[in-house]
Amino acid sequence: MSEVYGRVALIGLGLIASSMFWAMKRAGLAGEVTGYARSAETRETARRIGLCDRICDSAIEAVKDADLVVLCVPVGAMGPVAAEIAPHLKAGATISDVGSVKRHVIDAVAPHLPEGLHFVPAHPLAGTEHSGPESGFAELYDNRWCILVPVEGTDPAATAKLRALWEGMGANVDEMDADHHDLVLAVTSHAPHLIAYTMVGVADDLRRVTDSEVIKYSAAGFRDFTRIAASDPTMWRDVFLTNKEATLEILGRFTEELFALQRAIRTGDGEHLHDYFTRTRAIRRGIIEAGQDTAEPNFGREST
Ligand code: NAP
Repeated sequence: MSEVYGRVALIGLGLIASSMFWAMKRAGLAGEVTGYARSAETRETARRIGLCDRICDSAIEAVKDADLVVLCVPVGAMGPVAAEIAPHLKAGATISDVGSVKRHVIDAVAPHLPEGLHFVPAHPLAGTEHSGPESGFAELYDNRWCILVPVEGTDPAATAKLRALWEGMGANVDEMDADHHDLVLAVTSHAPHLIAYTMVGVADDLRRVTDSEVIKYSAAGFRDFTRIAASDPTMWRDVFLTNKEATLEILGRFTEELFALQRAIRTGDGEHLHDYFTRTRAIRRGIIEAGQDTAEPNFGREST
């Protein structure tokens, strides 16, 4: 694959940025990649493991002459970071981000950007429960979706170029309106994470079940919740603070359905339970057919 951008700057050097760097390197998509992270410790780690071609000690230095700047910081930090770098962006550059919430990021970043820049927000639907500069790997985006959310009036050529970058990193690319993105993600990611956090929190509170029993018998289902509930606390705090309406809407529906299932259990309505579980099983089948998960029993784990 050939070079898409001459110079790319990654601001924030965690799971998402480090995976982007390794994926860009794998396919030769960028001439030079500069990187910046807030703490000296992360910048030092990045230098030690060869993450980015050049690690800079300020965001301003990192974005100098960059053709593409990607904000890879928690959603709540996007606005302040954009305000800091905006006056130093190269004319005609593209600025993007990878935030899990899109409306808030657009509202927080766009007002700082000078005329003549292309703002193309993005969200790769890929991740793990790990974070930090050492957690990234080149294959993270392979066959995963990346959603582009170009703001009104964006030059289609700038969007097409960013699309080429994500495709080069292995992703399938779709475009979506910001509010629709936030609702879809509330269903597929944000509400499920909150439910996992709650389930793990409940088990932790249950004094009737000893800690050792919770851990020993976790393969019965609880373990899969714990993986999600181990996700980065800062990132997820920001997701819920900034995708408030869509998440509350989905949680409202979730609560209603939970009450209906609770009633079915209380009244012994086996037909309701069976019909419900048949419908949910079909959704799992659809995810496997779309190539978004493995059909292997127990997610392909060798033992339980
Ligand atoms: P991460 O591994 O926790 O890394 C976050 C990076 O941002 C770190 O380098 C951190 O610097 C820096 N940072 C944090 N707060 C900052 C601030 N106030 N100002 C400047 N830099 C700051 O996070 P990640 O998982 O890569 O997530 C980054 C973004 O991608 C988030 O917006 C998240 O919503 C989105 N995203 C995440 C996933 C996922 O599954 N993880 C998936 C898709 C999208 P220090 O190390 O120096 O603290």
